Amino acid sequence: MAEQGSSNGAEGGKVSSNTDLLKQYEKQGVEAMYAVEPLSWCDHLQQVAPLPEAGLNVEDPCTDCEAKGENWVCLVCYKVYCSRYVASHMVTHGEAAGHPVVLSYADLSVWCYKCDNYVANEVLKPIIASAHKSKFGKEL
Ligand SMILES: [Zn+2]
Ligand SMILES: [Zn+2]
Ligand SMILES: [Zn+2]
Repeated sequence: MAEQGSSNGAEGGKVSSNTDLLKQYEKQGVEAMYAVEPLSWCDHLQQVAPLPEAGLNVEDPCTDCEAKGENWVCLVCYKVYCSRYVASHMVTHGEAAGHPVVLSYADLSVWCYKCDNYVANEVLKPIIASAHKSKFGKEL
């Protein structure tokens, strides 16, 4: 006597909605986005020169003291200088040359000395992408 144990039609598919989870992520994302809101535009971006054909190399040493590591690159003349944690050569360069917009090889943020603020704008994207490729070995 064979009993047929399996019965079709029992749908175990209780599809749980991800919507609540997404909402939760969104909320967290917004709250944790920026401690300091970057400027979306500043007038000094007009001084930013196009990315050199060779691209950026985050390993470049400081022009003045040859310090290596987490340097900055000037986005007006593309010279590399060290941070204020080393000998502040980028600050010195910014003041001496009047080049206000610089990119950090440490965290790929763009800082404007004149505005004393971070700047995030479309025109900076290819520059940041080049630094990102050099730093992480892959496209942004
Ligand atoms: Zn230096
Ligand atoms: Zn410069
Ligand atoms: Zn500015």
